[in-house]
Amino acid sequence: MANTAPRKIGVLTSGGDAPGMNAAVRSVVRTALNAGMEVVGIYSGYSGLVANKMGSFTASSVANIIQRGGTVLKSGRCPEFLKADVRALAANNLRNAGIEGLVTIGGDGTFNGAHTLFVEHGIQVVGVPGTIDNDIFGTEETIGFDTAINTALEAIDRIRDTAASHDRLFIVEVMGRDSGFIAIDVGVAGGAEEVFIPENLANVDQAIQSIKRGMARGKSSSILVAAEGQKQGRAYDLAEQIRRKAGFEAKVCVLGHIQRGGPPSARDRILASRLGFAAVRALQQGLSDIMVGVQAGQVVPVSLQECTTKKRRVPNELIELAQLLSH
Ligand code: ADP
Repeated sequence: MANTAPRKIGVLTSGGDAPGMNAAVRSVVRTALNAGMEVVGIYSGYSGLVANKMGSFTASSVANIIQRGGTVLKSGRCPEFLKADVRALAANNLRNAGIEGLVTIGGDGTFNGAHTLFVEHGIQVVGVPGTIDNDIFGTEETIGFDTAINTALEAIDRIRDTAASHDRLFIVEVMGRDSGFIAIDVGVAGGAEEVFIPENLANVDQAIQSIKRGMARGKSSSILVAAEGQKQGRAYDLAEQIRRKAGFEAKVCVLGHIQRGGPPSARDRILASRLGFAAVRALQQGLSDIMVGVQAGQVVPVSLQECTTKKRRVPNELIELAQLLSH
């Protein structure tokens, strides 16, 4: 706990960009200014912190951004931040700029960085979960997820028109390296015949059974949804396995980065606004080394240590549901 509320705070966005990050930055800036704090925008995530790329923010610095995808602060990856001497430089830059509290908007990598700044240099840090993957422990929702699943769903609806018109089997690959939240939600909402998620890898045979069951009741087209897993283009491997095992030809569509961009949904804008506000309130209350997350609809503080060491997994109930409804 810090003794007093910070008089000047910094805000940065880091890791993969997510729609709604701008709404979160806007909320942080306006809440802090309203509370009489000064606000500094730090550019390009931890790289900007290390290189002193920062500037003073006013209420108008964040005008007209709530509806924009991406992040006006820019995001980025900063591998050097894994080195203690580079983090010491960053902490020094914060001190020299008079920044007493830091809001970091990003995913678990970003939170690891924030946690080390707190542990090694006593910087007051609060994390805001911003990632399309929705895989942060301690929060039921992350900023960007809702927009990403709606974007992917729209694509699947369009692909289904073609699949149905040409009696085709499609495999649609969505984002999700370690987790299947996007795939499972999009699979359920898009009526997929099968969903391949990193948590439940080996189900090609099951998918083939599912396609055959559909054919037996007169279905001539199917959509399978696959999370990319460790390697983008995994859907091509699945298509090849299905061809070899069952002789079905599948068309592949890799949605890729279109899932990241675009205007944030209403839900993401509201979530981002709530979490940005809560992050500043937490700093005012002297909280540190926490993320603000949503649990049972309420915004709550969760220790960064817990968020970064525990894994959030797709609920079994959703996996069962996706399978059951495809029959
Ligand atoms: P995300 O925040 O979306 O998970 P990354 O995993 O790429 O994205 O992490 C974003 C940045 O956070 C990294 O480029 C690095 O600068 C910093 N970071 C990640 N892990 C650590 C760590 N263990 N210690 C310090 N900084 C880290």
